[in-house]
Amino acid sequence: MIKRSLEYMIQVLNGEIAGDWSTSLQFHGVSTDTRTLQPGNLFIPLDIGDRYDGHQFVLDAFAKGAVAALWQKDRPDAPTNVPIIYVEDTLISLQELAKAYRLELSVRVIGITGSNGKTTTKDIVAAIMATTYKVHKTKGNLNNHIGLPLTLLQLSEETEMAIIEMGMSERGEIELLSKLAAPDVAIISNIGESHLLQLGSRDEIAKAKLEILAGLRENGLFVYNGDEPLIERFLPEMKQPANILRFRFGSDDSNDFYPVVILSEQEGSYFQINIEKSPNFYLPVLGHHNVINALSAIAVAKYMGVSDADLVKGLRSLEMTSMRIERVIAANKALILNDAYNASPTSMRAAIRLLEEMKGYTRKFVVLGDMLELGTEEIAFHEGIGHELQPQHIDFIFTYGTLAQYIAEAARTRFSAKQVHWFTDKAEMIRQLQGKVSEGDLVLVKGSRGMKLEEVVNALKEGV
Ligand code: ATP
Ligand code: MG
Repeated sequence: MIKRSLEYMIQVLNGEIAGDWSTSLQFHGVSTDTRTLQPGNLFIPLDIGDRYDGHQFVLDAFAKGAVAALWQKDRPDAPTNVPIIYVEDTLISLQELAKAYRLELSVRVIGITGSNGKTTTKDIVAAIMATTYKVHKTKGNLNNHIGLPLTLLQLSEETEMAIIEMGMSERGEIELLSKLAAPDVAIISNIGESHLLQLGSRDEIAKAKLEILAGLRENGLFVYNGDEPLIERFLPEMKQPANILRFRFGSDDSNDFYPVVILSEQEGSYFQINIEKSPNFYLPVLGHHNVINALSAIAVAKYMGVSDADLVKGLRSLEMTSMRIERVIAANKALILNDAYNASPTSMRAAIRLLEEMKGYTRKFVVLGDMLELGTEEIAFHEGIGHELQPQHIDFIFTYGTLAQYIAEAARTRFSAKQVHWFTDKAEMIRQLQGKVSEGDLVLVKGSRGMKLEEVVNALKEGV
């Protein structure tokens, strides 16, 4: 984590210190939250939603061992008995400090954006890179204008590779994040429909993701999903440095990296790729879409000089963040695929495709919740999913939520009434599932974050 003097920080932020504190004082690490603040940290108070002003926690921060705190000039009543540094805007200061620190490090940064698969790709890239380099990756999902600078400030001077997730909900956000992180490699995992509500069209979504090029370093590497034509279509018009190297990954041979064989097993997939003497890679997570995610990681690793042996080893060691196609065994021994972290049409289709391909189960259930933030076409998107469900592969459809009703309605055109259920009461759905699911069954659980379908998974797991 960052270790610097107050003097350094005052210079970088153009700040002013009140009182005659020694500016040679050192701080170790930065905190914006007194609940997790560590002694020695610099505390940066931020506005959190409309309700909290971080400045009200500044004294608490000192009580917990903060060395100094920033204070936004327009806020009244700064304490006078502790080292306070006045700045124009605390959020911008957090970002500027992170940016300056990153540029001082010899670390190479791999930035990842995309509609789906950012966290998954981040975990895969990190698992591979960790075989060869000292790696730091974004924790959990800390991928926004606050989480990303905090992640950069967590890097140690020795970190060789930083794997940084970049999330967004509006235009301009990825450009900001990319300029802070100044990636050596930029990855776009895919373009989907998430945030259609805010952005209006898939074209705009593609452009928003392509903003990652704005901060890419000169001669940097751009790794992107070649199955998505929109990326290449809008690439020429986007801000970007000179001489970028491009690698495309995707399903077929129009890409630089594509799979030539995929063999799905119980808990993961074996695959080979289109390189001479391709090793037999094993990815310990299910789903064709995850093999495609892994290809982007392999492309980056090749560029960074990771050996094939380490690539194989790194992929095998992958530990996924929870609720991404997580295998959970229910109390009654049924297998649950917990993909309840989030949902959009693209990721819903990917998960359903996986369920359809899995063999050897008595019956297959889908438990699907609303996909949120899809904008004016939201009903059509839900109907689309309902129409794609195949009676030859799926035995029961359980849906939950106002929009998921349209999945059920569309599915009823091909499934019998007994197979399709729609609920507005989650507890009731859980009761009915518990009465129906039994050993040998396979159950996919997926919906947007707001639907909290992990409650279904937990109930089936505990069997109560
Ligand atoms: P967020 O925007 O919430 O941070 P994310 O981009 O980090 O999401 P993940 O957390 O990796 O994405 O995965 C979210 C969901 O998308 C999971 O359900 C996962 O199975 C699915 N998913 C991951 N990769 C892909 C892909 N390439 N195509 C379609 N769906 C995917
Ligand atoms: Mg994520």
